[in-house]
Amino acid sequence: MSFAPLVEPAAELTIDEVRRYSRHLIIPDVGMSGQKRLKNAKVLVIGAGGLGSPALLYLAAAGVGTLGIAEFDTVDESNLQRQVIHGVSDIDKPKGQSARESIAEINPYVDVVLHPERLDNDNVLQVFEGYDLIVDGTDNFATRYMVNDAAFFLGIPYVWGSIYRFDGQASVFAPMLGDDLPCYRCLYPEPPPPGMVPSCAEGGVLGVLCASIGAIQVNEAIKLLTGIGDPIAGKLMIYDALEMEYRKLKVRKDPNCALCGEHATVTELIDYDAFCGAVSDEAAEAAVGSTISVTTLEHMLKERENGERDFVLVDVREPNEAEINHIPGAVLIPKGEFLNGNALSQLPSDKQIVMHCKSGVRSAETLAIVKGAGYADAVHVGGGVVAWVSQIDPSQPTY
Ligand SMILES: [Zn+2]
Repeated sequence: MSFAPLVEPAAELTIDEVRRYSRHLIIPDVGMSGQKRLKNAKVLVIGAGGLGSPALLYLAAAGVGTLGIAEFDTVDESNLQRQVIHGVSDIDKPKGQSARESIAEINPYVDVVLHPERLDNDNVLQVFEGYDLIVDGTDNFATRYMVNDAAFFLGIPYVWGSIYRFDGQASVFAPMLGDDLPCYRCLYPEPPPPGMVPSCAEGGVLGVLCASIGAIQVNEAIKLLTGIGDPIAGKLMIYDALEMEYRKLKVRKDPNCALCGEHATVTELIDYDAFCGAVSDEAAEAAVGSTISVTTLEHMLKERENGERDFVLVDVREPNEAEINHIPGAVLIPKGEFLNGNALSQLPSDKQIVMHCKSGVRSAETLAIVKGAGYADAVHVGGGVVAWVSQIDPSQPTY
């Protein structure tokens, strides 16, 4: 599917710019009008790290007129294996500043805007405001969901990429450009159980993989800005560097998506750290294939009401937390009771056990205990009561 260009053309290119961009200008699809659109474009790159480095270098070289860089970190020696926008003399320098100096060396016609603060719920909307397109090179799930939600609320399309060891993924999330186009939550409604997916800092990444995926992101950005080609909105690119294999999968819009679906329940920024959590290895292992969404739980509770199924829903939080908000029909058995072994005698042996806590961290830990005691079909609720309140019952308070 092709789209209208995201950006109107600038009034003109200077003689210097015409000389500089001549290899673009002689491509009929780009031409003078495409290059003027790039000149007028405002693109925000999140992170000047593994993906941000090649993305910024090529966006700058391509002639994108305004490049925002959202980056709060400083250059470390271990970055230089892949973050090619930085050099030895940049070590200990803020990455944004280092990136700006490299960009000035490549293309002095680019206006660089630094956003040196860590993106959070308090600043993300202001930082994003005014950009035509976002290129997301973040490396953690909490920020990815925040970027997705904030971009959606502001109506800004974005190009997403992720890398780990020899594997990369990329897509364009732009539900605002077409009714059938998905967002990141349509593809990944829930973050993986905390601790399940190691970061590049824990698991490593092949340096050149950043270029492979970063290049796809820039490619898609240029197509979207200038309106050429067929951007990968609604598609997921999967790259396997060891097999040297690219696959393109269709990503459907989820009509029940919590953000871009017909009955959206995420209508403002949420607590992304709580949503993504952090748990032990045992808990993460127990949660694989045994994590249900709050939507599934809601469905299960209705079936239980109708007598179509039976299970015990256990809230493993503390009593004072359960006073603030709760999932109807849950019995309260705090996590400590599982740790000291008292809880198991309170559980029926012939029913499925469903556990929840605030965000899915503690319930993943109790899940490991309960599964270890022989409840093979036990599950826990991803996102916990936070997700329940945000997606199912916003009338309840959060904490
Ligand atoms: Zn969605």
